[in-house]
Amino acid sequence: SNYSKEDVLALAKENDVKFIRMQFTDILGIVKNVAITVDQLEDALDNKIMFDGSSIDGFTRIQESDMYLRPDYNTFTIFPWRPKEGGSVARLICDVYTPEGKPFEGDPRNVLKKVLAEAEEMGFSMNVGPEPEFFLFKSDEDGSPTIIPHDEGGYFDLAPNDLGSDARRSIVLALEEMGFDVEASHHEVAPGQHEIDFKYKDALSTADNISTFKFVTKSIAHQHGIHATFMPKPIFGENGSGMHVHQSLYKDGENAFYDESDELGLSKTAYYYIGGLLKHAKAITAITNPSINSYKRLVPGYEAPVYIAWSSANRSALIRIPAARGNGTRLELRNPDPTANPYLAIAVMLKAGLDGIKNNIEPPKEVLSNIYDMTLAEKDEAEIESLPGSINEAIELLLDDEIIKGALGEHVLTHFVEAKQIEWDVYRTQVHQWELDQYLTKF
Ligand code: GLN
Ligand code: MG
Ligand code: MG
Ligand code: MG
Repeated sequence: SNYSKEDVLALAKENDVKFIRMQFTDILGIVKNVAITVDQLEDALDNKIMFDGSSIDGFTRIQESDMYLRPDYNTFTIFPWRPKEGGSVARLICDVYTPEGKPFEGDPRNVLKKVLAEAEEMGFSMNVGPEPEFFLFKSDEDGSPTIIPHDEGGYFDLAPNDLGSDARRSIVLALEEMGFDVEASHHEVAPGQHEIDFKYKDALSTADNISTFKFVTKSIAHQHGIHATFMPKPIFGENGSGMHVHQSLYKDGENAFYDESDELGLSKTAYYYIGGLLKHAKAITAITNPSINSYKRLVPGYEAPVYIAWSSANRSALIRIPAARGNGTRLELRNPDPTANPYLAIAVMLKAGLDGIKNNIEPPKEVLSNIYDMTLAEKDEAEIESLPGSINEAIELLLDDEIIKGALGEHVLTHFVEAKQIEWDVYRTQVHQWELDQYLTKF
């Protein structure tokens, strides 16, 4: 859609909108709202809505706390699950601006826009298609979430009233009403695990869609009395939830990753982009896999990547090249998970790829065999390294990577690293059940 101010006002009227949520995302990827009534909509569209930035984690200090919200008209959407009687609820995704009228450095959407502008200077636009996975768990009598899958007790049977399948169906319908182009939705490998893929779009729209998708999924599941979680590894011994990210660059309306004369059908641009992604893979993992729990997923045996390599043929690699060529030519980065802030994650992936293109970074040879079956010596021989093993390690590696730090900017970097260091410290000083089981009687 390409809405003008008048279009938005007319749409609000037509749909009897009473409330509008002015939506933005904090540094850690949590969706925030400032709710206004329809009477304030015109002011909002003129960028006059202010909020107190000091109430948002990592946003700003008290003394400079006034922030302005500039809505992106094209993101005007009605929430289909809200009752229409008595007025409906709509949302607008906003950029955060300072009182001086400058894009706020701590706004993740602004971070992504900056890297997109850098790509545009090089003649590129980026398309992104995500594959978010999640679990649907039963709630107990009090309505608190459990980790009991909705389909426990034989998920191969088509249960007559499977709350989870009903919920997933409603989620897909709501997304479609909101203008999402849902390409696929299916049960995943683990009990209670699902995936909903929506069609690729330009990078900014996809980042907006991912953050919207997560709260739509949670809201609708809740209405069905079940709990949706994007936590990457809720159950030990089962597959975790990832969010594979398909990405491609376009130049002059053509897919810049495609070259029919190449053996694999990939252009120099594609190879260098892969080279850049692999070079910066360790640092970007801090952003694409930002929780303690993210690293419980990135272990061998559960279809999640562990080794830094690429492949046109197998899924054990960090980067896979799906078979499509021509306009569908793209690569799939497989480590991201849905706890990532989508704006920051796409920003650092693109930045890594652009660095590859600018500096002609050749990727290593692709790995055709299953990396999990290779011996240590074979991996050494092929110079295959591993992803960081914890958020703590990932943060250290991020701090060593000037290019990726540059993409995030000082404000986001500082606040992100600080938040993660605290999280790590709280975690590492806990005494876990596993330790008690191991040591309590042994020593
Ligand atoms: N759940 C797997 C992961 O953690 C992916 C499974 C799949 O989509 N093939 O990445
Ligand atoms: Mg998939
Ligand atoms: Mg999947
Ligand atoms: Mg995939």
